Amino acid sequence: MPNIPLYDLYVNGAWRSADTLLTLIDPATAAECGRVAVASTQDLDDVLATAQASLSRWSRTPAADRGAVLIKAAHLLLDKLEHAAAALSREQGKTLAEAKGEYRRAIETFEWAGANATKVSAPIPIDQRRTLIPEAVGVVAAFTPWNYPAVLNARKLTASLIAGCPVILKAAEETPSAAVFMVEALHEAGIPPGVISLVYGEPAMISEHLLGSPYVRALSFTGSTHVGKLLARLAADNLQRCVLELGGHSPVLVSEDADIPEAVRAITEYKFECAGQSCNAPSRILVARSIYEPFLAELIEAAETIKVGLPTDKSTDMGPMANGRRIAAMDRLTRDAVALGARVETGGSRLNRVGFYWPPTILTNVHPDSQILREEPFGPILTVAPYDTLEEAIAEANASEYGLASYVFAKSHEVQTQMAKGLAAGAISVNHLKGVSVDAPNAGVKQSGYGYEGGLEGVRAFQNLKLINWNTAAT
Ligand code: NAD
Repeated sequence: MPNIPLYDLYVNGAWRSADTLLTLIDPATAAECGRVAVASTQDLDDVLATAQASLSRWSRTPAADRGAVLIKAAHLLLDKLEHAAAALSREQGKTLAEAKGEYRRAIETFEWAGANATKVSAPIPIDQRRTLIPEAVGVVAAFTPWNYPAVLNARKLTASLIAGCPVILKAAEETPSAAVFMVEALHEAGIPPGVISLVYGEPAMISEHLLGSPYVRALSFTGSTHVGKLLARLAADNLQRCVLELGGHSPVLVSEDADIPEAVRAITEYKFECAGQSCNAPSRILVARSIYEPFLAELIEAAETIKVGLPTDKSTDMGPMANGRRIAAMDRLTRDAVALGARVETGGSRLNRVGFYWPPTILTNVHPDSQILREEPFGPILTVAPYDTLEEAIAEANASEYGLASYVFAKSHEVQTQMAKGLAAGAISVNHLKGVSVDAPNAGVKQSGYGYEGGLEGVRAFQNLKLINWNTAAT
């Protein structure tokens, strides 16, 4: 077959092929779109040994030099943005515009890390006789998912690297190109051999093997709560530090004084990005009863104007879902809700065309026992329900076992404050849905995980703070 890209492993500063390959499927057409190398236990032993061997040199490299490598890599990635975004869109199904936007955020992440490398490594004085010295924790094992591979690889690679840690990246097998572009950029920017490694293969075997090694001192994972718990259990044996960015089931509270058109615009813009496959995407909308009907009517209208189609088509607003598992999940969640009395206001079944297409879907009258209110939908389905009092709305929003992001639309400062204080989530955004940024920590509470990603706190996750305590009287 012509022009099928092959994605190899990166071990000790060189690309390495494998005997076994996995086939990549383009979710827009269900056709083969690439192959990815499967790491053997020998490959994993090699990356562990070379990562550990590189620790002392990389952690002692002046912070400014580490930062300079990341800045150079950011420039190199920018040069390849068009090509890289096309590959990401083909593998993942997101539109080309979304893929480019994601790469811009990934490049911004490299730039932020590069610019802050010196700051995050600087000693932290406590008083005249005590100082904290940030030191690299050791080798980091990073596991990234398929929904935002460019941004999430960038976050994990850059935070580890400026902390002074070598990093072994196990990127998602279904979307391998973003990691390959980033490793290529870092390689060209002069990162020493062993400091970064890239592997793919059988996820459970790789995580058991890597976390079974005492060389690995920290793990960073983004993905489902189920897998996050498996990894945390593995990490317990070697007391590896964990950053777990897990699932979400984000509520949006729309108060009676909210700007309805603005709330509808912001919700649909973010909800249907990446076909709803974002951990922070809103999934449960709670609306003050007095504005419920007009809000719902506007939301349905907005959802129905979203054009679903080929990710390469410029007029497409939303591409396919990333894989058949997500279509099966949308089907199961919708059927279950409908069986318990839910009304499908729009969407509700797979589109009759080749590829993994599910339309924007709005469900109302959803029974509290429905799976969709407990399980992370991770797709383009919204539930909408009215509320009578703020207390009731906050209790309903917090009823989920997840606690990643929550959103509030209200004009009254008092209502905003009451909602922001009452909601149990890692991040609350008021009158918008853009809560994640490169310079601020992002984290979940409850079953959404623990540990910070982003900002200074995201780097500290991979540093020990060594306390130096002088007896000033004796010196
Ligand atoms: P999954 O839980 O099987 O996989 C999620 C990611 O974890 C994949 O990249 C996979 O390769 C990796 N993974 C799976 N088992 C692993 C293991 N034992 N060790 C290391 N990595 C492992 O589910 P899926 O079908 O790929 O995705 C569906 C669910 O995952 C969604 O319902 C959603 O909850 C969650 N998810 C969350 C995020 C997020 O950003 N928080 C991203 C992707 C998926």
